[in-house]
Amino acid sequence: MVPGARLVILGRQGAGKGTQCMRLARHYVVPHVSTGDIFRASVKAGSEFGLRAEEYMLAGKLVPDEIVVGVVRERLCQRDARARGFVLDGFPRTAAQAEALDEMLGDEGMPLDLTIDLEIDEEDALRRLADRRVCSTCATIYSTARPPAIDWTCDNCGGEVVQRQDDTEDAIRKRLADYNELTTPLIDWYEKRDSLVRIDAIGSPDDVLRRLVSAIDSRKLR
Ligand code: AMP
Repeated sequence: MVPGARLVILGRQGAGKGTQCMRLARHYVVPHVSTGDIFRASVKAGSEFGLRAEEYMLAGKLVPDEIVVGVVRERLCQRDARARGFVLDGFPRTAAQAEALDEMLGDEGMPLDLTIDLEIDEEDALRRLADRRVCSTCATIYSTARPPAIDWTCDNCGGEVVQRQDDTEDAIRKRLADYNELTTPLIDWYEKRDSLVRIDAIGSPDDVLRRLVSAIDSRKLR
């Protein structure tokens, strides 16, 4: 049995976090916990909570910390995450979220194995986001350069592959600006605790996955 892992993946929007987190979750047999996917699922379900989250998402704004922290706490307390670990994608994004995560994992006796910064510069990120397409059912990520095999129908589940509603130019710029201001400081924060590795996000998805797995496995063997 493959040992589990507790991982946080940071990186600008467009770095390929979603794609790599899905692959890492499969590799280590742990749940992929994407706060963006959780919010999109509640928007789709039309819940009260989803309607509130949607206002922030469409404007490219961050959902308030206390809401996001509550959602993550609930997810990480579930049995699969407790037993095997998790790949956290899109969380934490602010100092308050990082501190809340630290406290929650400390309380549960589940320390992080590693935090990874998937590095990409802003120009490449903008280009990738404009090209990004996503399955509206299972959230598998494609691009105009790597479309599904048949007519924008997801290879994985047959769902419709579309451009994300919040991948407009204005919302993308707002998300990247928030990343620079609020999330970049977390990279130093984790680095000071010796729990950060930087990985180059440029390359084929298979190459990037190999780099990630090798960094994670060597850290787990330390
Ligand atoms: P993502 O799929 O990670 O790009 O997230 C899509 C949207 O969900 C973001 O633009 C935010 O509005 C919201 N969101 C996701 N994760 C967080 C988070 N950790 N903190 C605040 N808002 C978030």
